[in-house]
Amino acid sequence: EDLEESSNVEDIKVCLRMRPLTSRENDPRVYRHTGQFAWKPLKEMNSVMQVTRGASADKYRKAKTSFTFDKVYDEDDETHDIYAFCGRHLIESAIAGRNGSIFTYGQTGSGKTHTMQGHGSIRDGLLRDSPGILHLAGKDLFQLAKDSPDREFVFSISVIEVYNEDVRDLLSKRIDHRLHIREDQNAGIFVKATKIEVENMKQFISILSTGEKNRVVARTTLNKRSSRSHIIYSVHIESFPTDQSSGSKRSRVSCLNLIDLAGSESVRHKSSHSTEERRKEGGSINKSLLTLSRVIQALGSNHRQFSRAQSHINYRDSKLTRVLQPSLSGNARLAFICCATSSGLYTEETKSTLQFASRIKHI
Ligand code: ADP
Ligand code: MG
Repeated sequence: EDLEESSNVEDIKVCLRMRPLTSRENDPRVYRHTGQFAWKPLKEMNSVMQVTRGASADKYRKAKTSFTFDKVYDEDDETHDIYAFCGRHLIESAIAGRNGSIFTYGQTGSGKTHTMQGHGSIRDGLLRDSPGILHLAGKDLFQLAKDSPDREFVFSISVIEVYNEDVRDLLSKRIDHRLHIREDQNAGIFVKATKIEVENMKQFISILSTGEKNRVVARTTLNKRSSRSHIIYSVHIESFPTDQSSGSKRSRVSCLNLIDLAGSESVRHKSSHSTEERRKEGGSINKSLLTLSRVIQALGSNHRQFSRAQSHINYRDSKLTRVLQPSLSGNARLAFICCATSSGLYTEETKSTLQFASRIKHI
């Protein structure tokens, strides 16, 4: 064996995004809530601290539990700011032939989909109000391709969903099209998902919303499935030198994944008093998110150790990591946007998100 063993992650950015509170939630700076503690983002220090109820400003500074990130964003920040810091460089390197993945992680309602898909109305095929990572990345992909006259680029899209350890093709004409993970001596690990070529931003957005629509069709029968499944938008990038006479005709291939993960609350509620179906869902989300963090930690430690004994990477432990294996292997670039709220209503979920983030950051 094997390719897996020599894999590493060259760099990983982990950001935290605290979304604005809704009117239902309490302001952590007021402390009217019933929770024991809340989280105070300290943007200037790029960290988050646990503060107890009624804590004064003085206690913020003395708070025992704190977590540090590459960057902390709060309600004043736009997805655009986050993308500029932890997204754009992945798009640039994907164009240059290197795989990259951007994840949104967090409990249901924390802002993952808001960050990934954006919010607002579509005009001229473009999202206007608050564009998400998908739109910002798409725009840069086409712009960068245009700015590289020496190469010709072909972009194609696939959209797949991982739900209860089943992998579905959201661009297939057949509803509920299951995909099998295949392994091939030459091609390695892959799923044969429908890939649709896109030539401009308008097509790009339209294909992505087709995938989203197909997910919604299934959701009506599977009861709010969206928060319990992972959705993976992939852009397959192939490029060729424009000047075919200049010796090298080799194409360059890379993949950019944009992943809206399932709600992480299941990590905590694995044995709650829920139905059998919910327990099964929770169990598989739990497994896949834990496996994901283990895989990333192993990739990170392999990077640190270079050619010394490499840790084994258990991609096989979940479908999510299995599907992502080809694009995590090699010198992949990763970014995690961990979404949370500072509301006192969700302190345990927030803590669990902060812990996940530090685990993958301190690799
Ligand atoms: P998730 O996908 O994590 O379950 P959503 O993205 O659907 O959560 O967000 C839940 C709600 O909060 C949505 O109504 C969304 O529009 C809103 N929201 C989330 N993040 C932000 C933000 N940064 N600014 C404004 N509204 C937000
Ligand atoms: Mg969502």
